[in-house]
Amino acid sequence: MKKIIIGNWKMYPTSVKDAQEKFKGIKKVASTLRNVQTVVCPPFVYTSDLKRLVTGHRCVVGAQNAWFENEGAFTGEVSPAMLASLKLTYVILGHSERRALGETDELVNKKVVAAVKAGLTVVLCVGETERDPDGEYLKHIAMQVKIALKGVTKKDLAHIVIAYEPIWAIGKHALRAASTDDALEVAILIKKTLMELYSKEGGIIPILYGGSVDAKNAWEFLTKSHVDGLLVGRASLDPKIFGEILKNADSIK
Ligand code: PEP
Repeated sequence: MKKIIIGNWKMYPTSVKDAQEKFKGIKKVASTLRNVQTVVCPPFVYTSDLKRLVTGHRCVVGAQNAWFENEGAFTGEVSPAMLASLKLTYVILGHSERRALGETDELVNKKVVAAVKAGLTVVLCVGETERDPDGEYLKHIAMQVKIALKGVTKKDLAHIVIAYEPIWAIGKHALRAASTDDALEVAILIKKTLMELYSKEGGIIPILYGGSVDAKNAWEFLTKSHVDGLLVGRASLDPKIFGEILKNADSIK
């Protein structure tokens, strides 16, 4: 299976010109790689401009969020139908930065169901704020997965990707980078939870790792934590570094 490498640009960069340059730089590398599906998720306002630069399937544009209704009086929101009409395929949902703004597991669930219904592929983010010695964080993550996937049936599973992102390991204020064992432990837990929910069909859902991934540790996470891909924040804004991550992923058969 191709590795899935997703760049989450968050609220960067500040100009469309810069966004186009960065995307072109990433596409130049990504379009040469057979074993990697690259997805760049820019701020919504740049989506159409970057979409115009897409030339094949290896490097595509995704979204960082979507609402749960297709239209209506929801000022400032963007709907799954709108993303689908631009022919976007991937949408990140439940990112910890959105959960920190007040998104609950129940809201994330409504968004997941609506996005899948619109034909999008959901990149569902889960992860703990901190780790406790008793392993309560494992229960928390399993619960996040179960609530987010309520109403998602076996026939929808090809439209689900799960990204494990420990909040303490994300962004420039990260406490520390997660170890490959930290990521492996939770990747196994998520797989087990998916098998409980969907029996063996649950095994087809790709599991990604995200949190301070860079060109130095990407290969290790992909090989030692046995994840199917990576969700990359800061490092995805530098085409050179992101290009290295993509090439590392491509080298794993
Ligand atoms: C993210 O925000 O999804 C993320 C993984 O950020 P970073 O790679 O910058 O830690």
